[in-house]
Amino acid sequence: MMIIMRTSATKAEVEHVIARVKSFELDAHLSDGAERTVIGVVGDGRPVDKNLFIRLPGVDNILPISKPYKLASREFYPQDSLVPIGDHLVGNGSRIIIGGPCAVESREQLLESAKAVKDAGAHALRGGAFKPRTSPYSFQGLGEEGLKLLAEARELTGLPIVTEIISPELVPLVAEYADVLQIGARNMQNYSLLKAAGLSKRTVLLKRGMSATINDFLMAAEYILSKGNQNVILCERGIRTFETATRNTTDINAIPVLKLLTHLPIMLDPSHSTGDWRLVSALARSGIAAGADGLVIEVHPDPANALSDGAQSLKPKRFAELVNQANAIADVLKAANISSTPVQ
Ligand code: PEP
Ligand code: MN
Repeated sequence: MMIIMRTSATKAEVEHVIARVKSFELDAHLSDGAERTVIGVVGDGRPVDKNLFIRLPGVDNILPISKPYKLASREFYPQDSLVPIGDHLVGNGSRIIIGGPCAVESREQLLESAKAVKDAGAHALRGGAFKPRTSPYSFQGLGEEGLKLLAEARELTGLPIVTEIISPELVPLVAEYADVLQIGARNMQNYSLLKAAGLSKRTVLLKRGMSATINDFLMAAEYILSKGNQNVILCERGIRTFETATRNTTDINAIPVLKLLTHLPIMLDPSHSTGDWRLVSALARSGIAAGADGLVIEVHPDPANALSDGAQSLKPKRFAELVNQANAIADVLKAANISSTPVQ
């Protein structure tokens, strides 16, 4: 980073800043311009917090040179990371589709969903056993019983399973059953949960918080990476805007923006981003066209009687159509040799 001193900064203030830089075992490179002094902070590559210097006397401004999310950044790791979900690898334009109900409700409901997801040609089964609901009066999930049903569905279909973790203490239990640990929008900045997921060996599907900027999102991913777990998949699931016609607003921009900023795979969840089953396929197609490495789609055999997110859940037949459409778009991109990462 560059520390820009005020035009009025005294020599003593400059020296004080340099001493503070050195106290963190960083090097300070002084550039004494005609008007201003600029101090370049050079370290061993670890990110430096600008707040350590911003209030020092004589400091005008601080310009970061590299991104605050080092491990997640493309600067640090230029190739696309390939992250496993069962035997599949997500990243670099893979088109991996995760389908399944919002919540595991019963054996019949889950096994029927699992079979439909498998028959449609999707790659993994989702279903929440622990549900982070906005209302405490809404269905909270079946807990460990739900995890057992997910394991049974995997046994039956061979599909890897994706399920949500909502507290750090539950990570070891959920990791015993699941192939992928989902961290939901409401928990994107639950730092103890991010750290616990970072200590796990399981792939993590990290959803964007509904009010999170892309920088916040990547800093959350950085928490997981910094604890040693490299297998992180990002998932755009819509953000809150002034618009009320849909549950959230699908931030399609986020897909190519993230592709520029990070090597991590990025998926789109058009179920939560729209909140309306009639809109899900259109956004799924646009997500693939924009370069998403995959999709997360809610599927329910009987959406009218679903215990959560019925309004946005697809019936099996519609889901099979969506998978075909997503594949058709992916084939067009492939035939035209269009990369998932924007041209730079
Ligand atoms: C979910 O996947 O069912 C879910 C709760 O999603 P989000 O965290 O994106 O709201
Ligand atoms: Mn849901």
